[in-house]
Amino acid sequence: MPISNGDSLGCAMKAEIQDHTKALEVLEKEYSTGDGLDIDTLLDSDKHGALTYNDFLILPGYIGFPASDVSLDTPVTKRVSLKVPLLSSPMDTVTEHNMAIHMALLGGLGVIHHNCAPAEQAEMVRKVKRYENGFISDPVVLSPQATVSEAKELKAKWGFGGFPVTENGTLRSKLVGIVTSRDIQFHDNLNDPVTVIMSTDLVTAPAGTTLAEANEVLRSSKKGKLPIVDENGNLISLLSRSDLMKNLHYPLASKLPQSKQLICAAAIGTREEDKTRLKMLVEAGLDIVILDSSQGNSMYQIQMIRWVKENFPEIDVIGGNVVTREQAAALIAAGVDGLRIGMGSGSACITQEVMAVGRPQAAAVRSVTSFAARFGVPCIADGGIQNIGHIVKGLAAGASTVMMGGLLAGTTESPGEYFVSKEGQLVKAYRGMGSIAAMEDRKAGAGNKDSKASNAGTARYFSEKDSVLVAQGVAGSVLDRGSITKFVPYLVAGIQHSLQDIGVPSLQGLHDGVNKGTVRFEMRSASAMAEGNVHGLHSYDKKLYA
Ligand code: GDP
Ligand code: GDP
Ligand code: GDP
Ligand code: 5GP
Repeated sequence: MPISNGDSLGCAMKAEIQDHTKALEVLEKEYSTGDGLDIDTLLDSDKHGALTYNDFLILPGYIGFPASDVSLDTPVTKRVSLKVPLLSSPMDTVTEHNMAIHMALLGGLGVIHHNCAPAEQAEMVRKVKRYENGFISDPVVLSPQATVSEAKELKAKWGFGGFPVTENGTLRSKLVGIVTSRDIQFHDNLNDPVTVIMSTDLVTAPAGTTLAEANEVLRSSKKGKLPIVDENGNLISLLSRSDLMKNLHYPLASKLPQSKQLICAAAIGTREEDKTRLKMLVEAGLDIVILDSSQGNSMYQIQMIRWVKENFPEIDVIGGNVVTREQAAALIAAGVDGLRIGMGSGSACITQEVMAVGRPQAAAVRSVTSFAARFGVPCIADGGIQNIGHIVKGLAAGASTVMMGGLLAGTTESPGEYFVSKEGQLVKAYRGMGSIAAMEDRKAGAGNKDSKASNAGTARYFSEKDSVLVAQGVAGSVLDRGSITKFVPYLVAGIQHSLQDIGVPSLQGLHDGVNKGTVRFEMRSASAMAEGNVHGLHSYDKKLYA
């Protein structure tokens, strides 16, 4: 039997409003607020205690754009922005130069830890800054008297083997040739001067050439290097073909607009000797410093912020950690360019248990960011991130970026080697910086590995050597996660899909929507949480990305 308009096949639902086209109009006229809760009602601790990420969900909105169009551009400090809102934590099992280089290439930022000698940390900063360039303004240069053996040693030290040769072996001296990796590779007569093997018919470009023009010369010459010379033939700078490839492969990379070098951040403490450490890091090219403390609202940190702003005005300072408006206000007044939020939420952390101090992370993030935003100070939600959902909730609560330790510690780019756990799984060490193991290394003046550090100088405890060490963290291990070159793009794609579900086309749109009350939330009961996880299956395989 054909069903004609108006017919029904059983018991029809009685409509209060007959005209279905009026649905949106009725919604707008008759409902004064959106479904669910606005963020301040959600996080009102007077009503239901302070919440953290697992205690709530974000309600879906309207999808009017593809996920790949969602922009995640975001500030990390007042002056520096990133294309990806992800940071790796300054911990000795998470961020050394390799992690910092790859986090920056992928559009985020790795913060180099300070549980090592200042010279070691400065060397890591130098490696990050040297990794990618536009014009290389301080290239390693050889003199005509240098030997093949010296060129090989320099290649082993720096990792690159393209060296211009100038008359007196310095920049701004007459260019006479270039030695490249393939010139030295099979030359066995190590005592020969480099003039024997160098190429002399050089393609060069004149000083004043723009980067885009110079890149074009490099492309068309099909050479690996392009020396830039002044009108007298003196070497001014150098261009490398491999940088064109890096630019092509990593379009989101966090780079400075002029130099095209990767942005580099590192952590220091707030003691007198940290001033010397910072000087060394700045000489190595540092852009952003994080003052690393679990309770940032101290006279030491406030004095340090002022000192850095006075002595290194070009460096951006991130203060913290903070979890309250009052702590934030003190550091903002002292002049910070960014804040780091979190106390006791880290996966390897026992601060809340031992010190009875801290705050649930979602409540801390909302409280601090809503205040800091009034002064244009971007905030990092640091710690407690176990999955993409937590990242999005941290951002929705007002953070501009999110910092991770444990989630990145099992990747190829973190320091240390993989080993097989008692259960037969591939794991890497991960430890809180306030764990006994990390603190003892610091006291002994060593990093986490077979470090050459002679004087770490980062002791967080002002008491003498024989003082009792009170742990605020644990030492353990985390599962292998493969390379961050796969893992971070997975996180990025996941965040984009999540923002698409929420119905906001950008991170800025998320913040605006939350503040205006158009992005809505819902509390989650314990059984709602169980419902939201996999349940009722006999067995399953949780593969997160492919
Ligand atoms: P090479 O051909 O052996 O010199 O090495 P690649 O071309 O593969 O790598 C050179 C990389 O090191 C590029 O990303 C450069 O920007 C970077 N780099 C940093 N400083 C220097 C330098 O002083 N000389 C050279 N040749 N490369 C440098
Ligand atoms: P882009 O083309 O979107 O990267 O625009 P930019 O203003 O960043 O770049 C201007 C020029 O610099 C273009 O010719 C880019 O190809 C080039 N460029 C960008 N990053 C790098 C880099 O890391 N090294 C070199 N040598 N060139 C770069
Ligand atoms: P964390 O709180 O353990 O993460 O590390 P901090 O370095 O911030 O603090 C450890 C202890 O050392 C705290 O009691 C700080 O107040 C103190 N402290 C930090 N900087 C200085 C300093 O420059 N001089 C002195 N005497 N104590 C400091
Ligand atoms: P995760 O991403 O592993 O949950 O947390 C990383 C964060 O934990 C770090 O960025 C840092 O703020 C914090 N953290 C690292 N080590 C310790 C520690 O020993 N004690 C405490 N309280 N926090 C730590």
